[in-house]
Formats: sequence, structure tokens, C-alpha cells
Amino acid sequence: MELKITCIPGDGIGPEIVAQAKKVVDKAGEVYGFTPIYTDILMGGASIDVHGVPLTDEAIATAKSADAVLMGSIGGDTTKSPWYKLPPNLRPEAGLLKIRKALNLFANLRPALLYKELAGACPLKEEISSKGFDIMIMRELTGGLYFGDRKTVEENGVRKAIDTLTYDENEIRRIAIKGFDIARKRKQKVTSVDKANVLDSSRLWRSVVEEVAKDYPDVILEHMLVDNCAMQLVKDPAQFDVILTENMFGDILSDEASMVTGSIGMLASASLNDTKFGLYEPSHGSAPDIAGLDVANPIATILSAAMMLRYSFDLDDAADAIEAAVQQVLQEGYRTGDIYSENCKKVGCKEMGELIASRVK
Ligand code: NAD
Repeated sequence: MELKITCIPGDGIGPEIVAQAKKVVDKAGEVYGFTPIYTDILMGGASIDVHGVPLTDEAIATAKSADAVLMGSIGGDTTKSPWYKLPPNLRPEAGLLKIRKALNLFANLRPALLYKELAGACPLKEEISSKGFDIMIMRELTGGLYFGDRKTVEENGVRKAIDTLTYDENEIRRIAIKGFDIARKRKQKVTSVDKANVLDSSRLWRSVVEEVAKDYPDVILEHMLVDNCAMQLVKDPAQFDVILTENMFGDILSDEASMVTGSIGMLASASLNDTKFGLYEPSHGSAPDIAGLDVANPIATILSAAMMLRYSFDLDDAADAIEAAVQQVLQEGYRTGDIYSENCKKVGCKEMGELIASRVK
């Protein structure tokens, strides 16, 4: 079986971490009998330097012709890089918005998983962190308040700003289906988060999610108000499996959930459309301060590649094996600088990639 994967190494530490993720996927391919075929495209600063734009139409066409996209990260030092003297639509981040739109990526998945080996980095009390947690935040990415009509007007000398929050039932249904599908691959529980006590869009959200739930009798559905969810994430994160929510609530809750894991270099993410296609990338940025030094943590990108195998290619065994290899390497005490603690063995980006690849079984 051949897997057509477009890679976007990007800027900063991007090329270093993507190289390690490829190494791990290649090893999983040897063990589980598949062949990844990679095609690299330029995006962000790397594309500006060559083409004058952060993403070309040819690069989009290449991405569309693949089954999945594996990305490092894009962008540079926003105070020093010449890329940030360009107009906003020509800066590195514009490439990311363009590719998300071109690929119709409406579902964003961000796991927040606390490895017991890294529990010391969790800012929560030990009685909470010791229970561990493994949460998947499923955020709607292309609708809601961030995409509604907005304007600022002046009425009788008073400035007034208006933002609109709209969702139609189709937008809600397609993300709910994704959420329930993913819960089926996990612990079969969906917590749908809304503000149905106040907002009409949330009341529609709740009723459409209930309709979708009828097709998933094996998955437990519960509803939670967003303010309560924000509290529960720090009080008892172990209660959650999949958190399904709209764009703005998901933006805030996914950052909160990742913060309680305490380790930015460990956080994977995926953005999916309504086929099996997805774009997989670490949650962190391009870390220009450590680029080229072989000290970046490649684990978030490696775990993003595991998500790619699971969600775009249904290779759950290979994804499990990569996740287990990450856990094993942590258990053996290997750490990159960002997650280092006393008595551990400090390794660089390349060595961490090699260690994980060698433990994929
Ligand atoms: P950042 O995530 O790049 O870095 C924040 C801090 O975390 C830095 O100290 C960095 O060294 C460290 N860090 C990040 N990833 C790490 C890793 N894998 N291993 C070890 N340490 C790591 O955030 P920033 O500095 O605010 O942004 C830098 C650039 O990245 C900006 O241009 C920003 O726009 C861009 N960015 C891109 C994406 C993306 O490509 N999706 C996301 C966020 C930020």
C-alpha cells in the first residue's frame, strides 16, 4: 500500500522536526507493510524567499493531489524577519490560512494527553495530575464568530462594534459526525460544549448534535456549558474523552487543555475535511530562536504523523505503535531540552527521532 503524503517542512525548526517524523513513519511502514511517498512543497517564509508569495497555486495543487499533508511549522521572528515587513496577505501565516481554506479543513483536532513521565510539567495539583488525562478537542474551524459579518459604526457619536455568530445545521452536522467517528476510535464518549442557556446558535448546535448521536448508540453523549467546561478542565480533566465544540469556544478551550499538559513540544494537531484528507502539524510554531541547533523536540510532529496514519489512512496499529514508541523512549528517560528534568538523558532532535523510530515495533 502506497501513502501519498505532501510534506511542508516550512521555516525555523520545521525542516528538522519533519525529517524526524518521516523517519518514524518510514520505520512504521517497514513494520506494518506500507510505503510512504513524500512530495515536498514550500510554504511560509521558505516560499516567500523563492516565489515571493507564501503559497503558490502549484503547491496547493500538489497538496490536493495527495491523501494527507504533514507539516512542520511556518513563520520567523516577527520582530526581526523581513517577511514581517510585507503586507499581511504576503506574510508566512497567510500561506497557512490559504491552504486551510483551499483544502476545506473545517475540523480541528487537538489532543491533550498527559504522559505520566512528564506529570511534573503539569501545573495542576498532584491529586489531579496523578489520574492522568487523554482528551481530544474537536473544534469547528471555518464558521461561527470568526467568520461572521462584522462592522464598526458610529451612532449618535458613540462607536459601536458588531460581530455575528452564525451556524447552519449542515456546518454543525458535519463536525458532529467527525466528533462521533473519532470517539469511536477512542473511549466512546463525546462532551458537546455550548452556551445553550443563552445563545440560539448553541441551541441549534445541541439539537443537531443530538440528532447525529442517534446514529452512534455506542457513544455516550453529554452536554456541558462552556463556562463549566473551562472549570472542569482544571478540576477533573480525566472525565473527558472527545470535547466537541464550535470555533471560538474551541479556540479557548484547546489552549487551556494544552496548557495543563505543560509541554508545548509534545502537542500534535490535525485539521480534517469531510473526506479522509487531513493536514497534520504540531501545535507549536517554528521556534526561530532554536532553529538549526538540533535541540527542538520532534515529538509533537511525530505524534501528528501518528494521527495522520490513524485518521487519513486507518492504520490504527501503526499509529498505536508510534505512540507506544514515544512512551517507551520517555520511560527510558530520554528528553530533549524543553522537557528535560534532573537525572534524565538529554538528547537532540535527530537522536530523539532515531530513538523513537528504533522502538516502533
Ligand atoms: P513558538 O511555538 O515557535 O515558540 C515558543 C517557545 O517555545 C520558544 O521559546 C520555542 O523555542 C519553544 N518551542 C516551540 N516549539 C518547540 C519544540 N518543538 N521544541 C522545543 N522548544 C520549542 O511560538 P512563537 O515564538 O510565538 O512563534 C514563532 C513563529 O512561529 C511565528 O512566526 C509564529 O507566527 C509562528 N507560528 C506558526 C504556527 C504554525 O505554523 N502553525 C503556529 C504558531 C506560531
